Amino acid sequence: MNIHEYQAKEILDRFGVPTPHAEVASTPAEAKEIASRIGGRVVVKAQVHAGGRGKVGGVKLVDSPEQAEEVAAGLIGSRLVTKQTGANGVPVEKVMIAETLDIKDELYLSIVIDGDIGAPVVMASTEGGMEIEEVAEATPEKIFRVAGDPLIGLTTYHARDIALALEVPAKSVRATTKLITDLYNVFVENDCSLVEINPLVITEDDQVVALDAKINLEDDALFRHPELAGLADPEINDAICIVITAGPDLELQVAGKGRIEKVCFCLEFGLNLAGSQCVDLVRGRVRRQFSALVINRGETLQFGVILAAVRRAGAGSTGNGRR
Ligand code: ADP
Ligand code: MG
Repeated sequence: MNIHEYQAKEILDRFGVPTPHAEVASTPAEAKEIASRIGGRVVVKAQVHAGGRGKVGGVKLVDSPEQAEEVAAGLIGSRLVTKQTGANGVPVEKVMIAETLDIKDELYLSIVIDGDIGAPVVMASTEGGMEIEEVAEATPEKIFRVAGDPLIGLTTYHARDIALALEVPAKSVRATTKLITDLYNVFVENDCSLVEINPLVITEDDQVVALDAKINLEDDALFRHPELAGLADPEINDAICIVITAGPDLELQVAGKGRIEKVCFCLEFGLNLAGSQCVDLVRGRVRRQFSALVINRGETLQFGVILAAVRRAGAGSTGNGRR
């Protein structure tokens, strides 16, 4: 399950990870009020389940509460198209108003599960602010990886190694080490599938702060966290079923309302139907995660079967893998 940046920030705050002071607004008037409360220069950030907002006007620095109100009015109710959304973009319902920081350096820090070794892996890079996929392709040597031990966790010396790999100023090493340890606790204790801080910033006065936060929660572990279930955005379908029936014309039926977050294909004619063509057909409509599965003819329209399949697909398989 994806959650919004302002919700991720609340979790980080609870675990002691430093973030900029911020509040969320659903109307331009609220945005103005929050901006005047924070005072000075603030940043207005569209709350959507997608990164890459900065490059398309979804993150704007403003100098006054009136400007915050104006920018919020432009964003709330609009659709934001970023590199991580489909061409249709995603609706903006809320904006977050945050204090601005004087940034000296932008770094990258994330934690994901490495399925091959069966453990959380911390990834760090001095190349913050850009997409990690680009860094991985152009300069893979700039990504530093350390696996946590599922039983012991992430040791302090590992966290310190990561801080050193991030080349933070000497006087920020201790705070960065603590931040990395706290972030690892966020990941493990909330059963996350992703925690990504991009950028992690070093301020002009050498503070280390999580400026942006993306957290995905593992769907199959949500039952252990009733306190987190309320973070789901009702406007967004995390899993949706597309039934493709073959005939002279391919027909797509999209079940449910809201933006398509994850897709489960039901190919009525099994894999004999060119599965990859179907994948291409809907690729543009999906943000990034999808699963394909095959249901035998006759089973396709049985609601229970589809529901069970959607549950399985929602368990987080990515890419164009088939089940
Ligand atoms: P996204 O990843 O969706 O583009 P970010 O939150 O990473 O959104 O913001 C994009 C950029 O905007 C950051 O890399 C940073 O340079 C700038 N920025 C974001 N928040 C702040 C802030 N509170 N103070 C100063 N600059 C900010
Ligand atoms: Mg970012």
